[in-house]
Amino acid sequence: MKQFDIPSIFRSSIISKVKALRKNQDPRKKDFSPTILDFGKIQLYIARHFGFCYGVENAIEIAYRAIEENPGKRIFLLSQMIHNPTVNDDLTKRGIKFIQDTSGKQLISWEELHADDIVIIPAFGTTLEMEEILQNLGVPTEKYNTTCPFVEKVWNRAEKLGTENHTLIIHGKYNHEETRATFSHTAFNSEAVIIKNMEEAVFLAKCMTGEASKEAFYDYFKGKHTPNFDPELHLSKIGVINQTTMLASETQEIARFLKAVTEEFTAQTNASKVFADTRDTLCYATNDNQSATEALMNEALDFAIVVGGYNSSNTSHLVELLEQRCPTYFIKDETEILDDSVIRSFNIHTLEVETIENWMKGGKVGITSGASCPDSIMDSVISKILTLAGSEKSIDEVISKW
Ligand code: SF4
Repeated sequence: MKQFDIPSIFRSSIISKVKALRKNQDPRKKDFSPTILDFGKIQLYIARHFGFCYGVENAIEIAYRAIEENPGKRIFLLSQMIHNPTVNDDLTKRGIKFIQDTSGKQLISWEELHADDIVIIPAFGTTLEMEEILQNLGVPTEKYNTTCPFVEKVWNRAEKLGTENHTLIIHGKYNHEETRATFSHTAFNSEAVIIKNMEEAVFLAKCMTGEASKEAFYDYFKGKHTPNFDPELHLSKIGVINQTTMLASETQEIARFLKAVTEEFTAQTNASKVFADTRDTLCYATNDNQSATEALMNEALDFAIVVGGYNSSNTSHLVELLEQRCPTYFIKDETEILDDSVIRSFNIHTLEVETIENWMKGGKVGITSGASCPDSIMDSVISKILTLAGSEKSIDEVISKW
């Protein structure tokens, strides 16, 4: 896989050693079991796959190159480039400004932009509507477009299916930048509807079989379907695509379910319902991070730490998996670990940061991070845990014995 030029502040000496060790032993990544580092008082179970993915490294390389190549120019990002506060803060410190927030709220009006400004498209991509606005302003976007190729792969498949008259069911979070972008690109060629989970897929299935009325569809999926969507016409030939950071297992479950409904309905009615196979559009990094987290779940962990931005979809899904098995703390960086008795952890259900006491119970600690989290933050988290646990062995000593 391509190597990217990433600022050294995001690299880590500890993590790069761990990753290199596993890569040498298992270059084809067949073994998703964690790397266990035994420090005596504490054992760290480090996930086999975590941290910056291809798309994030690509985006970071392009954004920092944009800064380097354009001294004195105004540089904007359409919105947060990736969902990590450390990376976004560093870009802000270097002068980059965000045009919109993550929910699409305008922070800088379009009128303030000039044709000679630099605008970076984030890794999630953007909508066709936004591209048109920039084009009308004369702002070029090709040179510093950081849209991840794996997101574009989803768009390309949607385009192909659209030209074959498929309707696209998008498994994603309606307000997420990537889902908004994918919806916009998909809607150009086909009808589309966004569903966020299995519960919504079950309701959609009722609309497919006629069990739920047309009006019920419009009510349930209000604002989440293309303007001309007619559930009586547009659910007979479908394909499922996803926001690449959703739980891959959930996307597959939804696709299997809708395929079964399609087949059953076809058998009963002689109707020609058709289902497109889109499994190959699932993102490799999301798959690998989630598989590595599932392997962590097989270990008898006392607790787990997940590191990443609180608005990061892929990181939240890792928490969602791990908390099924053990107490799981979701922290943005090492500063959330106040001491060996108090930690501040983000609750993905209430969306609030909670202060938790007596968190360090037991010595078997699972640890992983999201696809937008720099390894340098993981490094600091690990060092802090080892210091608090009073580990006497050095990291180099333990790694060398692995
Ligand atoms: S998680 Fe996948 S789709 Fe998203 S930026 Fe990373 S590689 Fe691209």
